[in-house]
Amino acid sequence: MTVSIPLRRDDGSVEVLMGHRVQHNLSRGPAKGGLRYSPHVNLDEVRALAMWMTWKCALVDVPYGGAKGGIAFDPHNYSEAELERVTRRYTSEIGTFIGPERDIPAPDIGTDEQTMAWMMDTYSVGRGHTVLGSTTGKPLRLGGSLGRSSSTSRGVVHIALAALRHRGIDRATATAAVQGFGKVGRSAARFLAEAGLRVVAVSDQFGATVCREGLALELLEKHVDATGSVVGFAGGEELDPDGLVLLDVDLLVPAAIEGVIDLDNAPLVQASVIVEGANGPTTPDADRILEAHGVLVVPDILANAGGVIVSYFEWVQANQAYWWTEKEVQARLAERMECAWDFVLRYADAHSLSLRTAATCLAVARVAEAHRLRGRYP
Ligand code: GLU
Repeated sequence: MTVSIPLRRDDGSVEVLMGHRVQHNLSRGPAKGGLRYSPHVNLDEVRALAMWMTWKCALVDVPYGGAKGGIAFDPHNYSEAELERVTRRYTSEIGTFIGPERDIPAPDIGTDEQTMAWMMDTYSVGRGHTVLGSTTGKPLRLGGSLGRSSSTSRGVVHIALAALRHRGIDRATATAAVQGFGKVGRSAARFLAEAGLRVVAVSDQFGATVCREGLALELLEKHVDATGSVVGFAGGEELDPDGLVLLDVDLLVPAAIEGVIDLDNAPLVQASVIVEGANGPTTPDADRILEAHGVLVVPDILANAGGVIVSYFEWVQANQAYWWTEKEVQARLAERMECAWDFVLRYADAHSLSLRTAATCLAVARVAEAHRLRGRYP
C-alpha cells in the first residue's frame, strides 16, 4: 500500500510525503516488520526488506509473515511535533491494513519507541480502545517488553560469539570493528567488549574512529550523547568511514544500511567473520567473493533476528497483559538464537552450503510447508 501523507509544517506550509507498507507473505501468521524513516526509502527497498522479514521470522520460527514500511524523508530535518503528525497520519492511512492480527509494525532506521507509542495510540483511537499488541518496540511504560531495545544487539553478539568459536578464534584475543553506532551497533559494540573482545573501530554516517588498543566505549558513548557523532572522539584517531570494513580485524559487524560490502571493497576485506547486524549489507557479488576468500558471513536473517524475536515476546506479553522478567526475556532470546545458529550450521555443513544459502533454504522451506499445509480454498 502506498499512501500520501500531507504534512502541515511548523511554519504553516504544507508538504506531501510518500509512505509505503508492504506485506510480503502471510502463510505463517500476521505480517511483521519495521517502519523506516529515511530519504532513501522507495517501494523496491521496502519490498526487499519485507521479503527478508518473511525469511527471518520463518528461520527463527516466530509465527509471522514478513512486512516492512517506510516514509521517504529525513527525520533529522523535522521537529518532534512534525514527526508526530507524520506518524499519526501515516498510521491512520494504513489503519485498515495493520493490527495485532494482521500486521504489526516495529522500529527500524529513523524510528524509535516514541514512534511506536504514537502509532499504537493512533491505531487505538481508531478502534475505540487501547490495543497494546498493535506495535512492538514500544516504551516500557506503555506495553513494551524488558530487553526489547537491546535485543537485536544481544542477538548479534550471541551469534558473533558462536561464529568465532566455530572458527576457533579465542574471544579474549579477538578484535572487532562495528559499522553503525545506532540502535544495533552501539549496544553490539558494548556487549562485544563485555564478552572480552577488543572493539578497535566504530563508525556512523558522519565518520569513524579507530584505536588499536581498543576503544574506551563508555567514554565514546558519552561523546556521542554530547555531540551526536563518533567524530572528534579524543580516545581514537579519525578514519575514513569507508575504510572501516577493510580493517584487519577478526570480526566485522556491519550494523548500518544495505549494500556497504560490494564488488569493489569485498576483495579487500580482511576480517575472518562478518556478522550482519544490518539488513542486506552484503551485495550478492560481494557474497561470492567473500565465500571464495574463506570469510565466514553470518547472514542478516539469522544474525539480526534478536529484534523480531523479542518483538514476538512483546506481542505475546501485550496480548496476554502479563509481563515477563528481564531474565526470562534474555534466557528465551539466547535459547532461540543459539538454536537457530545450530539449525543453520548443521544444514550448511550437511549440504556444503554457505550460511546464507542454508538459512534461506530452511526459511523458504518453512514458508512453503505452511503454504502447502493450508491448502486451497474452497
Ligand atoms: N526492524 C527490525 C528488523 O529488521 C525489527 C522488526 C520487528 O521487530 O518487527 O528485523
